[in-house]
Amino acid sequence: MTNSPRPLIAGNWKMNGLGASLAEATALAQALAAEPAAARVALCPPATLIERMSRQLAGSAVEIGGQDCRAEASGAFTGDVSAEMLADAGARLVILGHSERRAGYGETDALVSAKVEAALRAGLEPIVCVGETLAEREAGQAVAVVAAQVAGSLPTAVAGKPFSVAYEPVWCIGSGCIPTIEQIEEVHVAVRAALVARLGEAGKGAAILYGGSVKPANAADIMKVREVGGALVGGASLKAADFLPIVRAV
Ligand code: PEP
Repeated sequence: MTNSPRPLIAGNWKMNGLGASLAEATALAQALAAEPAAARVALCPPATLIERMSRQLAGSAVEIGGQDCRAEASGAFTGDVSAEMLADAGARLVILGHSERRAGYGETDALVSAKVEAALRAGLEPIVCVGETLAEREAGQAVAVVAAQVAGSLPTAVAGKPFSVAYEPVWCIGSGCIPTIEQIEEVHVAVRAALVARLGEAGKGAAILYGGSVKPANAADIMKVREVGGALVGGASLKAADFLPIVRAV
């Protein structure tokens, strides 16, 4: 594990979940109340569920996060949601720079960095995603790509604030395949070095999460890897029965 205070296991529901899905969040919270976890636990539902989930899980061990935010606090940006709005709805964290947004919406490191500033302004804890494509890995560029994303996506304002970085190799997201333990370790160690290069001492304490096809069957092995301080979990976070064993793998 890393030297971060407490590992974080965060679930990214992506564009999945209607009101009925809140039962899964409640089941998770009830299980954690019955037997507390060593890890911090967060769920990041679609924006439409944040307020309802926050009310339903108030006082529980499950923290709520958003999946993205606009950098501006308010304005003529039809369809977008600001960090302040997420916080107002009950979110405490926010995923930023997910590869699905970098690829699908052309989000650059500079934009992600501006969104991190917005999250901090609103009092949200950012989870900043980085990760190489398969083509970049096959070209031997994985470490360089990820280190550049860390440097470009984190404003110096995060120093001293709670935040984490999620290493999510793009070729592993939703694919069912994961890197080898050696590949995970190599990149996580490189992310730590990039964090320290960017933020000095403040780069030493942030959790570095692994994300990409984390399942109950592989979670324990991944969590033991040097500099892995938790997980960002997509598909396996939708059902409490799948997510709970991952939470308990820490
Ligand atoms: C993700 O999209 O952040 C993710 C890790 O997805 P999955 O676990 O489904 O690969």
